[in-house]
Order: sequence, then structure tokens, then C-alpha cells
Amino acid sequence: MVSCPLCNNSAEKSVLAQAALVNDAVSGLVQCPACGVIYFDPLPSIEILNRFYSAAYYDFRRWPGEAGGAWFGRKLRKIGPTGRFLDVGCATGFFLNGIRQSTDWEVHGVEFGRDAVKYARQELGLDVLEGDLKDANYPDAYFDYVHVNNVLEHVLDPAGLLAECHRVLKPDGHFFLAVPNGVNDSRNLIDFFGSENLPARSPSGHIFFFPAHTLLELFERFGFKVRTKKTGSIKRGLRNTGILPKKKNWKEDHFPREDAQVMAGSGVVVNEGKRKSALYYQYRNFSAEMGNMPGLHDFGLDFLFELTKGI
Ligand SMILES: [Zn+2]
Repeated sequence: MVSCPLCNNSAEKSVLAQAALVNDAVSGLVQCPACGVIYFDPLPSIEILNRFYSAAYYDFRRWPGEAGGAWFGRKLRKIGPTGRFLDVGCATGFFLNGIRQSTDWEVHGVEFGRDAVKYARQELGLDVLEGDLKDANYPDAYFDYVHVNNVLEHVLDPAGLLAECHRVLKPDGHFFLAVPNGVNDSRNLIDFFGSENLPARSPSGHIFFFPAHTLLELFERFGFKVRTKKTGSIKRGLRNTGILPKKKNWKEDHFPREDAQVMAGSGVVVNEGKRKSALYYQYRNFSAEMGNMPGLHDFGLDFLFELTKGI
């Protein structure tokens, strides 16, 4: 039994289900009794991750992405007229572009997906580095704001990512972290395995699932102080738990899928779509925020944290 990738404890893990990203690599979905994290054991290899992410995984919608950046820009302007902003896992960079257009902040991004990086650089002219945050080698205390939106649950070394975020953040910097609630997010995988006795495909690519207390302990370990904590995506979370009835087709995404089908959509396809009015996007962003509840609740699917360095 290998030790826990998050806390290093070598106590025996409970096996909750079998799960997979691709058909030919089945892992146990296990839980560490020490820190509570749920994860793929073994973790996928780089080759499997590349295979999984070369698929049409991303939903590149230009206008909602840029409007999201503009909405976020309002918060940044309250922090200061200018500063240095980093988006970890920035995909095609639409969110960063929205911030750049609506503020005087300097924006930077890091992204694992090669095609997305190419798009962000060539089409949008953004400063985006390919690879992990560590590969970027930013100086200590470089950023005023670090933004990590739905990334921690995808990476092979979440503890290393948090440590690196702490290192590159200024002493008075802000750190935004959005991460699924692992108890809620793992429910469908466990329910699928329980009812079908087949490994549950993780369509989202999530390989780590963090319960609330696991996250709070991690923040303390890496020297982050919690300014605000909220729960979002409550309707989807209620469905996952079965408090609201699950959608009729909820199992569909978890059945094994032919690799050929997975591989079909390589590359970046941007959905330019029709641009709606600025007011419409403001309303959408506003109502999404209004739907977030203070505190951490297991009936919701997403956790949102505003953190600072605890000094
Ligand atoms: Zn652990």
C-alpha cells in the first residue's frame, strides 16, 4: 500500500469504488483515513492524462469567458487600480482577456493543454506558459492575485500546487480557490460502481476529491488563512446526493467509452457563438454569485474560498 499523495500517511485506505479516466487503466477510488482525501489509486500516468485531455474536454465559449473576466475585474479594481494577476489553468485565456480589457492589471496564465496555450498566445496575445505552475518558475512573492478555478482536483500533486501558489503570492496577496466538494463530487462515481459493478468513468477528469475538513487542514498546513468560504452549484449538488432526484440519464457519462470516440475531438475548437449584451452577462454572473451560500455544505457541489497568507 503506497502512502497518501496528500498527507503521506501509509495507513490502509478504504476502497469506495473502481474508477477510470480511460478504459484500459482502472484505479481504485480510495479514501485516506488520516486526511480524508478521496483519490484514484494508482493515480493516472502522464500518458493517460495526455490521452484524456487531448479529447474535446474543454468548452471554449468566448463571450461568457470574457464576460466572466470583466465581472471579476470589478473585484480586482476594488483591491487596487493595478496589480499582477495569475490564472492557473487558464485554458484559452478568455477569462484573462476579460480582465485585461476591463482593468489596468497585468495578467499572466499557466496552462497544461498545448493547443489552448497556443490559442491564448497567438490569437489573444496573452502571456501564457505551458505546463505546471512549477515549470513557470515565477519569482517568490510575485503576484497580487492568484486565481485557481477548478484545477486542484485535476493535478497529480495538489499539495505541491498549493505550496507553489503560496510561494509566488505576495505577503498581502489574494488567493481565490474554487474546488469541488469531494464528498458530493465523488457520489456519482460511487453510486455508479455500486449499481453497475463496472468501473465508473470520471468524465470531468477529476482524480482527487477533497472533503471540506481536508481542505481546511491543507490551508493551515501551507499557511493560508480563510477570509471567506462559500458553497455553490447547490442544485447540482442536491441531485448528486439524491436529495433532489438524479437526472434520468445520470449514468450515461460514467459508462466506459471507446478510446476512438474520446480521441475524436483533438485540438481547440472555439465557440464564438452570438455575443449577448453586457447587461445579460452581468445578470448571469450576479445571479450565479447570489446562488452561493456562506459556509461549507455537503449538499452543494462547489466550494469557493478567498484566502490570504496567514501572516
Ligand atoms: Zn492522507
